[in-house]
Amino acid sequence: MKYDRILIRYGEISTKGRNRNKFVDKLRKSVRIALAPFPNIKIESSRDRMYVLLNGEDGIEIIEKLKNIFGIQSFSPAIKVDRDVEVLKQASLDLVSSLYKEGQTFKVTPKRSDKTYELNSDGINQTIGGHLLQSIPGLKVDVKKPDINLRIEVRKEAIYLSCETIQGAGGLPMGSSGKAMLMLSGGIDSPVAGYLAMKRGLEIEAVHFFSPPFTSERSKEKVIDLSRKLAEIYGAITLIIVPFTAVQQAIREQIPENYSMTTTRRMMLRITDGIRQKREGLAIVTGESLGQVASQTVESMFAINEVTNTPILRPLITMDKTDIIKLAQDIDTLEISNRPFEDCCTIFVPSSPKTKPKKEKVQHFESFFDFEPLIQEAVNEVETIIVKPADDQQSEFKSLF
Ligand code: ATP
Ligand code: MG
Repeated sequence: MKYDRILIRYGEISTKGRNRNKFVDKLRKSVRIALAPFPNIKIESSRDRMYVLLNGEDGIEIIEKLKNIFGIQSFSPAIKVDRDVEVLKQASLDLVSSLYKEGQTFKVTPKRSDKTYELNSDGINQTIGGHLLQSIPGLKVDVKKPDINLRIEVRKEAIYLSCETIQGAGGLPMGSSGKAMLMLSGGIDSPVAGYLAMKRGLEIEAVHFFSPPFTSERSKEKVIDLSRKLAEIYGAITLIIVPFTAVQQAIREQIPENYSMTTTRRMMLRITDGIRQKREGLAIVTGESLGQVASQTVESMFAINEVTNTPILRPLITMDKTDIIKLAQDIDTLEISNRPFEDCCTIFVPSSPKTKPKKEKVQHFESFFDFEPLIQEAVNEVETIIVKPADDQQSEFKSLF
């Protein structure tokens, strides 16, 4: 017997009260995008669950895609059967026989959303369990740790059978938390921060500071490749490349060396905030982790953060580098991040940046020069690239032949 659908459970969405329909719609959209390569599937959604009807498409491949969709708590390959008891008995037997290997144990787990059904939970247990024991020689019951757990879910419209529950990615559906700018360097941390922010439903646009000729085209390619990985989650991501050379040169001329890093960060934040405003985002995401480097002490954050009231989200703030690296490995960005190209922040690094910069001092140093026109220029002269995932490009390429 073959599964004909996949039952999707929502998890956290189901706590969303009046906004629930909006969340379900967003999730439905993500599922549709992720399953675009399977044109025959059909999606049915209701308040508390969603079904992907396979219609002959490859269930195994679809399961792999579903594992990466945010907003899904868990899912199960399932079969829809008629509520007739004889039909239920036969379908249960077909399913368990197809999974059964010699000497295995099973149990039946009934769940009745519709209490008017002719069998109650005990009745289902006895009728179906008895039928299976009689029909499959060697099959034994184990209610604690069964090899096969046959879930029988009785609903008004039909009964659903499933034997396996697969963990979903969790989080909230994409786009359900509004839009934010991700400050994306070529390093290990910021792509992971972007991934975690997306996991909580944020729509992300990446902003990268680029300082030619001090940073090379190769370092820009690296950021495009990182964006491509993040694009797998959405189907596409906007990458905004900011020309930063003029600002950095002004900083080098105007600001004492030990404060240049603090001012560089302040300028990056002001520019990102300008872009955010233009693109109607509501927050800025960074890959900062407390105490990791001089610019990431609380004293530094206090001095840097002063330039904006916009919420700065720092998903990695309490994480250790080893844990961040593990996540980077999981989301497959580590190898790209490890490519050895320089970042704009590493080119003019002072030998001893302040780990405890003073807000008043940095304000004082910056007061001798008007950075605003340079900031406006950077905001206005950005290059905007829409980055698509790798396999998407391949399919475009294929269609040329
Ligand atoms: P990452 O591994 O993300 O580069 P990092 O530990 O190297 O982080 P920093 O270089 O101090 O830390 O950068 C801190 C944060 O500032 C980054 O996580 C990123 O969000 C932002 N950032 C740094 N450089 C750039 C850049 N060139 N363009 C955009 N954002 C940047
Ligand atoms: Mg970096």
